[in-house]
Amino acid sequence: MKTIAVIPGKKYSAHLREVSIPSIHDHEVLVRSVRAGICGTDREIHEGLYGVAPKDEQYLILGHESSGIVTKVGKNVSGISVGQHVVRSVRRSCPSCENCNQGMNDMCSTGNFTESGIKELQGCMAEYFKDQPQYLVPITSELSEVSVLLEPLSVVEKAYRQAKEIQRRLSWKPKKALIMGAGPIGILQAMLLRDSGLEVSVLARSLPGNRKSKIIEKIGAQYLSTSCYSLDYVLKSVGKVDFVVEASGDSKLAFDALSLVGNNGVVCLTSITGGNKELTIPADKINLDYVLGNKIVFGTVNAHIMDYKQGVRSLERFMGRWPEVLPEIITRRVPLLQFTEAFQSTSDDIKVTLEIS
Ligand code: BGC
Repeated sequence: MKTIAVIPGKKYSAHLREVSIPSIHDHEVLVRSVRAGICGTDREIHEGLYGVAPKDEQYLILGHESSGIVTKVGKNVSGISVGQHVVRSVRRSCPSCENCNQGMNDMCSTGNFTESGIKELQGCMAEYFKDQPQYLVPITSELSEVSVLLEPLSVVEKAYRQAKEIQRRLSWKPKKALIMGAGPIGILQAMLLRDSGLEVSVLARSLPGNRKSKIIEKIGAQYLSTSCYSLDYVLKSVGKVDFVVEASGDSKLAFDALSLVGNNGVVCLTSITGGNKELTIPADKINLDYVLGNKIVFGTVNAHIMDYKQGVRSLERFMGRWPEVLPEIITRRVPLLQFTEAFQSTSDDIKVTLEIS
């Protein structure tokens, strides 16, 4: 079968690789890939900055944003059948920590987890992949065209779920949110928060009138371009907010985000920034502000299986409320054999997918 693989650590090594179709054990399921999404992490792996091959193998099959159809089930598998549309969850537990033992591998303490298409587990940019049924999330056929968005949405679901869990420390009824970044994570986070009744502003680089700003406006959020307004202006016009989500991919903005939240508010950091940028920050001011304002900042990565399941319900609501928006997030669909084009991102791209079958 055809796969898209890299040699981890080697710059621009993504290549077409023929490997055998995986054979399944009695407790496993074989899935035919329909499409895979491409995100910043895949691009970093392609650039040789990230990614680890499975033990005893030289290459890593990419792909952690999956969408596929079950084609074979092992004889000990129940609850999932041939023809079922599924999305695969990314992370698998480490052998030793308490969080992983309790099924919370998204909170692994040792760092010895594996992630499909990213770290020590083959991914879904392959004509077929296999897995155990507990890692596969069933999708209804109405959602099949947009189900590739479920993995990034699961990250967004986890971010908001955790903010709410943390804020059980007080009475928290968030009204205003500010999102930094209008990529897939920023847009999906804006949709989730709008759908939960919050007033949402999204801060992004591009001038208004582009695809991203049009989507933001369609969902009833406000689009603010950093090319037009300074952060001071944003602070003055939006005011202090209850919840800030940083999803711009820029660590400087992560520090700017800290000054935008009001008393008792929460800042959530989601950007994976592989570089080594250094900054000068107003340390006393930030510290005093966080102490006197009872403010919280937390980082979040990956998602629990419950976030995928919650994500399926959100996709259904989003399709009902804004039917044209989810399909518009997928801005470019690239055939498998032209995979190199999928790794080049343009400023107009939101989500690029690799069409596998
Ligand atoms: C994925 C997460 C993963 C993270 C770090 C992100 O792109 O969406 O599932 O945990 O990369 O590897």
